[in-house]
Amino acid sequence: MPQQHKQQQHKYPANPDQKIQRHLRRIDLFLVHDLTLAHAGRSTIPGLQQGRFLITFLKLLHSSTLPAPMTKAARIAIAIASLTVAVFNAALFAPLSTSAQNPPQKPPTPPVWMSHPQTSEAEQRNFPQLLLQQLSAIKAAALNDDYAYRQLAHLTENIGARLTGSPQATAAAQYVAEELRKLGLEVRLEPVTVPHWVRGAETAALVDYPGMVPGASQRIVLTALGGSSSTPPDGITAEIVAVDNFDQLTALGRDKVAGKIVLFNELYDKQKAAAGLAFAAYGEAVRYRASGAKAAADLGAVASLVRSVGSADFRLPHTGFSTPAGIPDAAVTAEDADLIAHLAAQGKVRMHLTLTPQKLADETSYNVIADLKGSDHPEQIVVVSGHLDSWDLGTGAIDDGAGVVVAMQTAEVLQRLHLRPARTLRVIAWMDEETGGSGSRAYTAEYSNDFPHCDAAIESDSGAAHPLGFDFKGTTAAIESLRPAQNVLLSIGASVLQPSSYSPGADITAMSDAGVPTFGILQDSRTYFNYHHSAADTLDKVVPSELRENAAAMAVMAYALTNMKDPLPR
Ligand SMILES: [Zn+2]
Repeated sequence: MPQQHKQQQHKYPANPDQKIQRHLRRIDLFLVHDLTLAHAGRSTIPGLQQGRFLITFLKLLHSSTLPAPMTKAARIAIAIASLTVAVFNAALFAPLSTSAQNPPQKPPTPPVWMSHPQTSEAEQRNFPQLLLQQLSAIKAAALNDDYAYRQLAHLTENIGARLTGSPQATAAAQYVAEELRKLGLEVRLEPVTVPHWVRGAETAALVDYPGMVPGASQRIVLTALGGSSSTPPDGITAEIVAVDNFDQLTALGRDKVAGKIVLFNELYDKQKAAAGLAFAAYGEAVRYRASGAKAAADLGAVASLVRSVGSADFRLPHTGFSTPAGIPDAAVTAEDADLIAHLAAQGKVRMHLTLTPQKLADETSYNVIADLKGSDHPEQIVVVSGHLDSWDLGTGAIDDGAGVVVAMQTAEVLQRLHLRPARTLRVIAWMDEETGGSGSRAYTAEYSNDFPHCDAAIESDSGAAHPLGFDFKGTTAAIESLRPAQNVLLSIGASVLQPSSYSPGADITAMSDAGVPTFGILQDSRTYFNYHHSAADTLDKVVPSELRENAAAMAVMAYALTNMKDPLPR
């Protein structure tokens, strides 16, 4: 080794800086290495294999730093051989090389995710440092308080189910109004004329089916749909005809449907729901709940059954609104829909069905409207809302007590932190989302002249699970202008603003149609339809920490909307 060291010393000219010399030698060896690779067509230096052979060749020729044993004659021989191969390679492979075909280009603009976020001047004007600090304080205050959960517990456990037209629904409106008055808001109970449908007895059994043990019957679990007519008190008995969809019903025609009970056995797509597209799966299946009875009645059916919509696996029927069709109308559980369809494929199946719901006289109930007046632009309004009515099987915790209480907490947090909105914050607890939307129609009749001054409306009506951000119907410019608010919500995973082509809340549809930018909290919906509209929609399905995240998301976004310098672009 000392011998070699000596040779290297000899090959490098005298130079006081040994480090530099070693470095130079590495460079020369690298060039030899690279020339070899270049001959194989895979240079480590971009472009070397085509255009730079000559330079490398010349460097090699004049290098005084090659290993000692190599004579000048050997270097010249290697260099000439290299040049020959290089010229040959260049001629042979040049057409294959993209770098040879394309002229050198400017480096591409890096994608957004690679660049450090810059705050634009518009963002700084719209979201000054003080507002950003306030938004962070609002987020922290909502995440550290159970006001919303305590209110939800009262609505669901002390008041209970809140079917439109029921005394509980109206009591809930009065309770929420009183709680918002306690927070110091200007509160109005605005009367709404609402339908009043009440559930009766609901039983069913298969009384004739292939393989039936004499004298036996099979109980079927079902529940009447809202708007269903009733059977006679002692029920009806009729054959069931099972179809998978509207096309099959139409193909059967009146001859095979009249006098029978139709079962629509459309599957709810559980895989879609598990992948996060629960509302798409719901939308596909719920058409049969909404208008199946009408289609069946039009062909002379005596009753209509629909497979329960949703992913519940515990033989729970799922109720909901159905367009009144003048015939009894119920949802059987998914398990019972399978049972009936399997037996009907083997032969005749007859059901004894008793449903005794009643449509009573319309009632007066209320929308709760509570304002926290804006300090600078009181006439400009930002709505936060949820709907107070629920179905009657459960206690309406996820649909939609949760939406009401996170809207209430938005006002509560601002008052607790003594933050005055610059525009007016309006909390609305809507009546009658579930059975026809009379509350939202009453609001539109009263306030549509003010819609041009309504800067934005938020409704939460997709549960209480972890929020991912918001569905948003509005302009791209509006989405871009909200980036500082999204950044505040990033730490709780709620920063998404997902463009929507339709109103992200049923009760704010009229505002959306009038051009008001509308938001719906975008919750993790994967398990929402396990419980939605069933007896299992109860308080225990709400995770307190996730409800706090929803309150934080709504409060941060609402205060951003009330206090950003410019109103949200339309
Ligand atoms: Zn709802």
